[in-house]
Amino acid sequence: MSDFQTVIGLEVHAEFSTQSKMFCGCPVVDSTEAAPNSAVCEICTGMPGTLPVLNARAVEFAIRVALALDCEIANTSVFARKNYFYPDLPKGFQISQYSLPLAEHGHLTIETPDGEKDIRIRRVHLEEDTGRLLHRDGFSLIDFNRSGVPLLEIVSEPDIHSVEEVRAYATGLRSILRYLDVCSGDMEKGAIRFEANVSVRPLGSPQLGTRTEIKNLNSFRSMVRAVSHEVKRQTQLLCEGKEISQETLGWDVARGVTVSQRSKEEAHDYRYFPEPDLPPLYVDDTWIESIRESLPELPLARQKRLIVEHDLPPYQAGILTSEKEIADFFDAAVETGLAPPIKLAHWITGDLFSLLNQENIDLQQSKITPVALAELVSIVERGEINLTSGKTVLAEVFFTGRDPSKIIAKFSLDQVSDVEEIARLVSEVLNANPEQVSAYLAGKQPLFQWFFGQVMAAAKGRANPQILQEQLAAAFQQYQQSSAEE
Ligand code: ADP
Ligand code: MG
Ligand code: ZN
Repeated sequence: MSDFQTVIGLEVHAEFSTQSKMFCGCPVVDSTEAAPNSAVCEICTGMPGTLPVLNARAVEFAIRVALALDCEIANTSVFARKNYFYPDLPKGFQISQYSLPLAEHGHLTIETPDGEKDIRIRRVHLEEDTGRLLHRDGFSLIDFNRSGVPLLEIVSEPDIHSVEEVRAYATGLRSILRYLDVCSGDMEKGAIRFEANVSVRPLGSPQLGTRTEIKNLNSFRSMVRAVSHEVKRQTQLLCEGKEISQETLGWDVARGVTVSQRSKEEAHDYRYFPEPDLPPLYVDDTWIESIRESLPELPLARQKRLIVEHDLPPYQAGILTSEKEIADFFDAAVETGLAPPIKLAHWITGDLFSLLNQENIDLQQSKITPVALAELVSIVERGEINLTSGKTVLAEVFFTGRDPSKIIAKFSLDQVSDVEEIARLVSEVLNANPEQVSAYLAGKQPLFQWFFGQVMAAAKGRANPQILQEQLAAAFQQYQQSSAEE
């Protein structure tokens, strides 16, 4: 099996988060939430006699992406009609750039175990999204809210050679789209969709093998699973001396297999021709250059900067920079000068991330600010409160947005080192759990940790761990002695 090389070319569709649609003034709404057909008009429902007007913001967004991918931008590009019939396409054609796309010849750098690698981008072009069909109770319903939403298609060269690389490419691209603020990247809502072209060839062979194209991959997970399944399937066929047939495949999530949708012979002829209702798109160099100047620092550059400036481990710098809002938060916390960057990085990628995961929210939705985090970390670093208390305070700041030092003062979260106070909590806990005490005394050692946790919880996480440990051990010793005396 190792004598074959995997070859993948990825086509990515990204929905733009512009305010209005591509060719009309309808708002772009969240199609999973808005009432069906509440954001539609004559133009995006394809009424005869209507005329499209190009959304300049969508063009600007496309140029942003094209520049971030180092593409050459065409001063003149052309919209075409891609003709086919489907109920979600009211006009009977989709407006898309075809032979003269907005941008070509770019690349995206990904990280691989062997170092950095450039995946060439073949083309980046603008088109419009279709409506959505919902099949329910024996009926098919159509929602045109998505119809005419600006869509960007980004097509790679067949430079991707493994499942890991295709994952890195796809996540890298999503990260860039989000940095540029042009796409929500919300996969669950279909804001990014993939089509994967897959072939395998004998290692060293100069020609590409016959490819299949897997359509409608709506998550990283499906995309990665579908590609690895397809690589295995094709390799198997070649090993058996069979041929691969060029076809379009679907991904059956439930069965975990690719299924044929149509063969090469049944391939569509879209009868492309230039859209007569839109003039060629002309973008001048002044505009392109002003957009270039407005681009933010991109994820990979930012990751490298964090490694150099703060001596962060590459992996951690990668996590911190995968989302712009996290990277901005980190930079702002560092800028306060209150706490060492490496400590801030630990707190963010550790406890702050677990709170975000636990609550399933974005950083923006939490109440914590970079200054508050930096203050908290500096208080812990100075040893004014212990780590456990620090975590409690973090959660409090996270949910309430209150000032860490005020929280510490109010709840007197300074570590409880009062031996008598801790001893009292220990005996309370032991008295409340006689069965566990007997089990522990009968030799169930791991219960010690459980008791430790119970007392710590009773102390609201504030007990000095050393003293707690000693008091708990002492209390058990006493129990043992008294039961021996009985
Ligand atoms: P279309 O989908 O319209 O046929 P192209 O022929 O331009 O478009 O190819 C689309 C995608 O397929 C590109 O990403 C390209 O890199 C990829 N591709 C082309 N040939 C192969 C191949 N033999 N193996 C894997 N990917 C391929
Ligand atoms: Mg294709
Ligand atoms: Zn409309």
